[in-house]
Amino acid sequence: MIPINLSLLVLAYFFMEFVAWSNHKYIMHGFLWKWHKDHHLKDWQVSLPEKTEEWKFEKNDRFFIVYALPAMVLMVLGFMYTYDYLVFISIGISLYGITYFVVHDIIIHKRLNVPFLFKNHNFYTRAIVRAHTAHHWPQNKTDFHNYGLLVFPIRFFKP
Ligand SMILES: [Zn+2]
Ligand SMILES: [Zn+2]
Repeated sequence: MIPINLSLLVLAYFFMEFVAWSNHKYIMHGFLWKWHKDHHLKDWQVSLPEKTEEWKFEKNDRFFIVYALPAMVLMVLGFMYTYDYLVFISIGISLYGITYFVVHDIIIHKRLNVPFLFKNHNFYTRAIVRAHTAHHWPQNKTDFHNYGLLVFPIRFFKP
């Protein structure tokens, strides 16, 4: 059953990009804007990446808990009832959470000082930073519509 479980892990990982995109667009910039607002406080004042306050939690960080909860519940249920596939889905969700933290909070916003993550960027990580910069620091109205983290319009690959 390993190949099926691994496929579920990968599917869960990419499904989370869709979840993150849709939540960001419709919930965080919607009725839960009050939680997300402080992540956008410095938009228009300072360009990315060093724009969020260092070493300080944002209300926006509550979303990490929101996303961690389903992963934890699935993990516990998976082990309790030996449903392997739930454990693999939970690992996929958790790996996405770790990716989001490393990419968004460390590489893009530099909330933790991890110098090796700040250099040696490849064309993809450069595009990710550009695409997220467009979310915080839109040059025009269409730029602001970029809510995804790992998946975004192809134009961001061009400098
Ligand atoms: Zn936002
Ligand atoms: Zn951001």
